Amino acid sequence: MSCRHHGCSSPGLDDDGDGVDVTFTGGGRRRFDLVVGTDGLHSATRALAFGPEEQFHRYLGYCFAGWTMPNSFGMSHEGTLWSVPGRGAVIYAVGDTDQVHGFLSFTRETPPFEAFRDPRTQRDLVAARFAGDDVWEVPALVAGMRAADDVFFDVVSQIRMPHWSTGRVGLVGDAAHAPSFLSGQGSSLALVGAYVLAGELAAAPTPREGFARYERRLRDFVTRNQALADGGQTVIVPRTEEDIVRRDAALRGSGSLVADGGRPEHSALALPTYAAA
Ligand SMILES: Cc1cc2nc3c(=O)[nH]c(=O)nc-3n(C[C@H](O)[C@H](O)[C@H](O)COP(=O)(O)OP(=O)(O)OC[C@H]3O[C@@H](n4cnc5c(N)ncnc54)[C@H](O)[C@@H]3O)c2cc1C
Repeated sequence: MSCRHHGCSSPGLDDDGDGVDVTFTGGGRRRFDLVVGTDGLHSATRALAFGPEEQFHRYLGYCFAGWTMPNSFGMSHEGTLWSVPGRGAVIYAVGDTDQVHGFLSFTRETPPFEAFRDPRTQRDLVAARFAGDDVWEVPALVAGMRAADDVFFDVVSQIRMPHWSTGRVGLVGDAAHAPSFLSGQGSSLALVGAYVLAGELAAAPTPREGFARYERRLRDFVTRNQALADGGQTVIVPRTEEDIVRRDAALRGSGSLVADGGRPEHSALALPTYAAA
């Protein structure tokens, strides 16, 4: 699974049943009892062990870019947003500093896989979508994005896999089951998954059995929380004028984006207590 030339290596995972030989991109090879991929939505570990991302990728129809920029808006501990059907812009100040976060998000029929590896293509894609919006702070946001060196661009997508492990290689968090930010549950699923996997691996006679028990405990919880994103709307990018009216009414009524007391899906798993090792 690996090749080597000019001092570089193609990364590789060779699982022979008793251990996993890992070949690193920078060169070098080491053997491990097991490998756990925690490398997010576009996991390279998943690609090595299970194949291309496309087969597990469920695109939900939105793209976004976020970055930091100078706080020329005088904002402190607050956020403000602008939206029209299919496009939304946000500025928010987490604290009281000279930096704010900019965020532009929009609907798109197909995922722009071609943009993932090229920051310039990403900026062009976002700027083109907001090109006619000479209103509010949108031009300042587009300019801020162009100037920023920390732009994070991605699609709003889920990862759905029939299994989260193969042999001695397993996945945790977004790498295994990204629910997307439409669910609001990605961090919780990742943390709960890491806790359960650690407990089950420590208790099980073999890694294979530990991975299987982890998946049995977590699968229903993950499925239910991923479903929260079904037909979901982002608060930031309503799709129609009616959606904007509904969103505004909901925000005025509750004063909060979060349902009081959470949703039943959030607490659908009782965490087991594992004996200390
Ligand atoms: C805009 C936005 C808003 C969100 N809002 C919420 C929210 O309100 N509530 C919530 O619960 N969740 C939210 N999420 C989702 C949440 O951020 C993720 O579900 C969560 O971070 C997943 O954790 P993770 O550790 O599995 O993956 P990540 O946090 O993605 O971490 C993966 C790590 O792996 C590293 N990595 C990747 N590839 C490699 C490599 N080849 N070598 C070395 N390192 C690598 C990355 O740099 C990264 O540090 C939001 C996500 C986004 C994008």
